Amino acid sequence: MGVREWVRSLYELVYPQPALCPLCGIRVIPDGLPICVDCVNKINPAVYQLRLLRYQGYALSYYHDYLKQLLYEIKYQNRYDYAVALGEVLGAAAKEQPGLEKIDYFLPVPLHQERLKKRGFNQAEAFTVGMNRVWPHPVYKAIRHKPTEPQSELSPKERLENLRDAFALTEPALVKGKRFLIIDDIFTTGATFYSLADLINRYHGIPIGLFIAKSG
Ligand SMILES: [Zn+2]
Repeated sequence: MGVREWVRSLYELVYPQPALCPLCGIRVIPDGLPICVDCVNKINPAVYQLRLLRYQGYALSYYHDYLKQLLYEIKYQNRYDYAVALGEVLGAAAKEQPGLEKIDYFLPVPLHQERLKKRGFNQAEAFTVGMNRVWPHPVYKAIRHKPTEPQSELSPKERLENLRDAFALTEPALVKGKRFLIIDDIFTTGATFYSLADLINRYHGIPIGLFIAKSG
């Protein structure tokens, strides 16, 4: 380390630099928030209750352009840091939501091994890492044992067919009577959610959905 770098690191030790927002990388984060106020406003978190057929479900916001862009970058540009920051916002909002007081486990929707290898990480798991910073819960892991087609290219009926028996539970004995918060990025038709929720229900657990965005 040169003298100049040494002096600079000493200076930063004595005068800590304010943390920059992990989403925009420009503005400073106020105390107690995971991201800057501008990015909070752009995400516009509100926690909407979804109208589901059989289960309870919530979404942090609409699938607006800013979230679309963030979720795209998380998935296809390897922005693990964005996913964790978004998870922290999700956790902070959800923990205040009536109906979500007694959660036993976070259950991130699993990716199949092949998809995981291609992407590098599971975005739903990265959300739970952020959520656990502000709202700690044990994470329950399920398995996706069928390499499913990308859902976006399928009709609603094909989606359900595609997801039949796609998931398995790692510790079914733990499930009975417990409340599982199933976490995913977008709620569209709910085919993925129902497939996993029905499985939890079959083992007498209580599934509840929590999504970053609801589409439509
Ligand atoms: Zn920001």
